[in-house]
Amino acid sequence: MSVYANPGTDGAVVSFKSRYEHYIGGQWVAPVKGQYFENPTPVTGQTFCEVGRGTAEDIEAALDAAHAAAPAWGKTPVAERAGIIQKIADRMEENLEMLAVAETWDNGKAVRETLNADIPLAIDHFRYFASAIRAQEGSLSQLDEDTVAYHYHEPLGVVGQIIPWNFPILMAVWKLAPALAAGNAIVLKPAEQTPASILVLAELIGDLLPAGVLNIVNGFGLEAGKPLASNKRIRKIAFTGETTTGRLIMQYASENIIPITLELGGKSPNIFFEDVMAQDDAYWDKAQEGFTMFALNQGEVCTCPSRALIQESIADPFLEAVVARAKAIKQGNPLDTDTMMGAQASNDQFEKIKSYLDIGRQEGAEVLLGGEPVDLGGELSGGFYIQPTIFKGDNSMRIFQEEIFGPVVSVATFKDYDDAMHIANDTLYGLGAGVWSRNGNTWYRAGREIQAGRVWVNNYHAYPAHSAFGGYKSSGIGRENHLMMLDHYQQTKNLLVSY
Ligand code: NAD
Repeated sequence: MSVYANPGTDGAVVSFKSRYEHYIGGQWVAPVKGQYFENPTPVTGQTFCEVGRGTAEDIEAALDAAHAAAPAWGKTPVAERAGIIQKIADRMEENLEMLAVAETWDNGKAVRETLNADIPLAIDHFRYFASAIRAQEGSLSQLDEDTVAYHYHEPLGVVGQIIPWNFPILMAVWKLAPALAAGNAIVLKPAEQTPASILVLAELIGDLLPAGVLNIVNGFGLEAGKPLASNKRIRKIAFTGETTTGRLIMQYASENIIPITLELGGKSPNIFFEDVMAQDDAYWDKAQEGFTMFALNQGEVCTCPSRALIQESIADPFLEAVVARAKAIKQGNPLDTDTMMGAQASNDQFEKIKSYLDIGRQEGAEVLLGGEPVDLGGELSGGFYIQPTIFKGDNSMRIFQEEIFGPVVSVATFKDYDDAMHIANDTLYGLGAGVWSRNGNTWYRAGREIQAGRVWVNNYHAYPAHSAFGGYKSSGIGRENHLMMLDHYQQTKNLLVSY
């Protein structure tokens, strides 16, 4: 076990500035209105920096810079663009620990996650899209002896991107990597709860990109997000966040007739069929681990397996085993490499989760584990910690239907396959799902029948760059990751030529 030193103390691998301005045109630029907001770390609840509070004027300045940079970046030879993106990945890899600790301090998540998942995945996303863009081809169709149709991929130009706080660097990179590879200039607005780690990344990689290709304006949703998403000078808006905000983004985009991608909320079912259990068996061990994924990233994952559906015939022994397993989830200082679950990302989120713990009890759900906030003592007393919580109830309850976005799983039982499918699909959302069965017929049918964009079969929570990810129903529009993402950041030019 080792504990990374708190940023700002001796031996720390990251040092934050005490004040961050916007990153516009390759420079640090003070907010036009001169306002800043405080940024606390969820680890201790203490403010560690202040950050520029962006407004429409700052968004306009960032768009000026992006428009100045976009034509040359779009015309930069693909191999050169790809080379720059590979260099970004290399530099991130060389600074992996620094970025991981920055992300942990800003967001509260365990450093073992940021070291082993968030930052390595972000690096791989840059590498994937740097490679993918080089392999992309146009097409030529011969229409008749004298006529051909050429199809070219062109960048959109200047795009807006708005992201949430649960994976600040990874969510940014999911959007930045394909947009940069496709030749666009970007104005990015991070979430106000986690504005700092992305600026640490910008400091690290900023010199690799031509000035103005990447611009970052921090601030609040209505003050900075809306002026970006509703702006006539962007050719696309990519958004990840809550479904209610996604509706607004669609409205803004409709005024300007621009494409959107929306990655929104979820209430993912994780379904365990009766054949999963066996004594001392590696598959059963993996299935139990799959159940505990509800606590990964403190449950602040859009695809959190927040509804566990267990076949009635195995419910009692299954729950006994998984409750014991969940009890072993180690909570603690997120900078400790042994810690499995860190702090919730903000005080607001902490309060929201606590309110759902009350709602679950009021609805009559049985508490099988947890159900309370935790005081970890010492400097962590001011942080936002909640116990991993397992409720047992039924799918009509609010804790089964509403996104809690915390380390809370609501368990229901089902009789047979049809019952499982009915409960799984009885939700507004359709982002992720898990299916656990050793029977190929069962998992295949279930995988196809569940209304969700990503179904993990006999695993959960893997996010490889080359697997398309996105929502059905109210969970969103469009996909992220995978080659198809390039299409979301390009437009097709057709030349119809007669010789
Ligand atoms: P949120 O919608 O409150 O905020 C997301 C971003 O939108 C923030 O940057 C915020 O400042 C901005 N924003 C808020 N109001 C705006 C407005 N009117 N116009 C423009 N921008 C505005 O969401 P959140 O609480 O930050 O994030 C949690 C949500 O994100 C959850 O619902 C979660 O499921 C979802 N999420 C989805 C995915 C996915 O890939 N589908 C991934 C991560 C998180």
